[in-house]
Amino acid sequence: MQQYREIKSRHRDSILFFQMGDFYEMFFDDAELASRILGLTLTSRNNGGAADVPLAGIPVRAATEYLKRLIEAGHKVAICDQVEDPKQAKGVVRREVVETVTPGTVLDQDWLDSRRNNFLVSLFPDDPFGIAALDLSTGEFILETTDPADTSAAVQRLDPRELVAPAGVELGLSERYLVTERDGWEFDAADAGEEIRRRFGLASLDGLGIEGQDRPALCAAAALLRYVAELQPSGLTQISRPTIRRKGGSVLLDEMTRRNLELVEPLQAGGTGPTLLSVLDRTKTSMGARLLRQWVLAPLNRADEISSRHDAVEVLVSDTRGRGRMQEALDGVRDIARLSARTGTGKATPRDLGALRDSLAHLVDIKNALDVLERYQDSCELERIADGYDLLSDLREVLERYLETAPPPTIGAKDSIRKGADEELDEARDSRDGGKQFIAGLQTRERERTGISSLRVGFNRVFGYYLEITKANRNLVPDDYERRQTLTNAERYVTPELKEYEAKVLNAEEQIESREKELIDQLSGEVRKRLDRLQHVSRLTAELDVYTALAVTAALENYVRPTMVDGFELHLTSCRHPVVEHTLPAGKFIPNDITLDMASRVILLTGPNMAGKSTILRQVGLAVSMAQMGSFVPATEATIGVIDRVFTRVGTNDDLVRGQSTFMVEMSETSAILHGATERSLVLLDEIGRGTSTYDGVAIAWAVTEHLHDNIGCKTIFATHYHELTQLTDELEHARNFNVAVRETDDEIIFLHKLLAGGTDRSYGIHVAKLAGLPAGVVDRSKEILSLLETQHRVASQEAPPPLDASQFTLFEDSQLVQEIKDIDLDKMTPLEAINRLAEIKRNVEGK
Ligand code: ATP
Repeated sequence: MQQYREIKSRHRDSILFFQMGDFYEMFFDDAELASRILGLTLTSRNNGGAADVPLAGIPVRAATEYLKRLIEAGHKVAICDQVEDPKQAKGVVRREVVETVTPGTVLDQDWLDSRRNNFLVSLFPDDPFGIAALDLSTGEFILETTDPADTSAAVQRLDPRELVAPAGVELGLSERYLVTERDGWEFDAADAGEEIRRRFGLASLDGLGIEGQDRPALCAAAALLRYVAELQPSGLTQISRPTIRRKGGSVLLDEMTRRNLELVEPLQAGGTGPTLLSVLDRTKTSMGARLLRQWVLAPLNRADEISSRHDAVEVLVSDTRGRGRMQEALDGVRDIARLSARTGTGKATPRDLGALRDSLAHLVDIKNALDVLERYQDSCELERIADGYDLLSDLREVLERYLETAPPPTIGAKDSIRKGADEELDEARDSRDGGKQFIAGLQTRERERTGISSLRVGFNRVFGYYLEITKANRNLVPDDYERRQTLTNAERYVTPELKEYEAKVLNAEEQIESREKELIDQLSGEVRKRLDRLQHVSRLTAELDVYTALAVTAALENYVRPTMVDGFELHLTSCRHPVVEHTLPAGKFIPNDITLDMASRVILLTGPNMAGKSTILRQVGLAVSMAQMGSFVPATEATIGVIDRVFTRVGTNDDLVRGQSTFMVEMSETSAILHGATERSLVLLDEIGRGTSTYDGVAIAWAVTEHLHDNIGCKTIFATHYHELTQLTDELEHARNFNVAVRETDDEIIFLHKLLAGGTDRSYGIHVAKLAGLPAGVVDRSKEILSLLETQHRVASQEAPPPLDASQFTLFEDSQLVQEIKDIDLDKMTPLEAINRLAEIKRNVEGK
């Protein structure tokens, strides 16, 4: 326990797997935590002292599975092994932590989602805020600086599995992420600069595009690199050249917007419904899938860059056959990024190398498909990819020369290296095969010699090769047989000759294995030497895959290329919601035209429940996001003035987890929008002010709209049930009313889902309640109450207090007092005379 406590004290934030013979034991809190997560029985161990120590254990050989579950649950695990043979140990066996596995540094392919990155993100609070992100499984390395107010949006965009942050700094993110705290001094930009320079063999950081303004990101990177180096003492070859992201470089989508627009995850937490990503994602490779996800979360904000992406998609849309060829070529390319990163850490298996080789073989087809694409020169993006496309034939040639067609997952299970590739290996194999052949021939020869027809040659791990003879034939055994093992019905023997050949075979097998290992290591070395090039071609392949996927989707779903402009206007003709459209039978979605421009930049959208207000609101946000990430859009025509940010605020979000009231959350989000939006933003508000009383709600909604209209001047769509708000258009010059139409027939309503100019004054809430199956009695009673409210402004049957109005004062019309007041001529009085007169009146009244 002393040893345990000493080691645990150095790994406080990890669950410690403490090897005791065939088990990893966990003690105290670790045991309680692990038993809860893994469903283990919690036992206790008498410490020899007063209290029992809680204990939970797992068998060492099953550790991987348990480890995986703890990591998935967001924990870190330090693996402490016995590092000496207990038989040789004097006193307590020596134990050491040999590896720490954390969610952000997992490399095992089986544990990772192939279609998303696994970022470890380090934060350095400063202005601008510094962020460094590293996906060890692919080598992607990002240095980002952002406005402090946008930190959480920027971090969430990276969707990290783990954060590294300076100790003691409150970031407000810890409830969501596993945070590893590091000492402040580790965040030293000079250290990181030095490390990065050394790694890429550069004299200065300029070559990587890193500038003075990126300093906070370098500070973050310093702690990140140090932390990772600690976890992976074997070294980190797989880090690629950093991507630099700066404030304003792309559209930052905050969490609300990402969730409300269901960009990559359905609104219902943990739901499996369709999302924008799932509709767009027709990528063929994991690299492409990961890049598409990144693009969806980071739309561009420069018209020229966006149009370049559209050019590429357009080339692929217009050449149907070329597009098909490209898809075929991409199909079957394995994850070059992760395979080569794994090779970089020395963990690649022969099978990984085989997969890499096969993927490289596809590169030729991809390049060919690109070269024969009609008009690919019309797209500077495609041209750039074609120019930079590296077929890595040198590496492929080496891998092909050495590797078997289907290499095994571990060395030794099957041949990994081809026959004829290496002389030494071939010799060892010959000698093994010769020995085996000899042994195989022995059975026939010995049968002849002894006359025992049931004699057979066998092999087991403990005794090696043997000759097996049934007990009935024991009397025929020759003298040179040496007995090794007695079974119920048989005896097993060896002969000197058999031993000699056995030794030869085993020896040869050992030689084969060690030579194969050497050669696999050499091949890994060849891969490592070309990591830069592999990462580059992997990136280009991912881009091609994304462009092709976007083109395939655009063609299948009838999307149109949007015209991107630097101006203000947003014009969508026959626009659809890309995800809702999917949930309906083909052709059932009703498209709508939407225009937001300088003249009418605020749309007040009213309409009954269920009419489709939220759908319209979201489809505008989606069309803009899609266009700016490079996709075509679901419309027949689109002109889009580039947006700097999209903000959405949708009514139904309870945030009980964070312990805030619904209304409080709603207001803080609204406040964030009012502070963050600029004239170039798109603001989508769905039912704000609903979480409070009607008057408060209308008042707040009114003032918010005024502010957006007058002070910010951004494009705004405001969907609401408050009909009072339709009057806003009388006051606000650039605001327009629209409604989503319904047709009323008898007692029913039909949703037309059509956007019309003008406001509505009815909610049809009761109709919808009826549709939802509220009992008929309740529906009828609601109608009665509604009509009472509408006609008499009251519900309960007792008399309401009489309304206070001017007519009450007529009661006093004729009184002397009223006459006296009427006679006063204020214009002819000084203030002093006035107050004296008032005092006189008061005296009179009181006197009475
Ligand atoms: P509420 O005010 O109750 O929140 P809403 O007006 O915002 O309702 P939505 O949630 O947008 O209504 O739409 C309700 C349903 O109507 C959608 O789930 C969808 O199935 C359907 N719908 C909406 N728009 C269309 C459309 N343009 N074409 C066809 N169906 C539509």
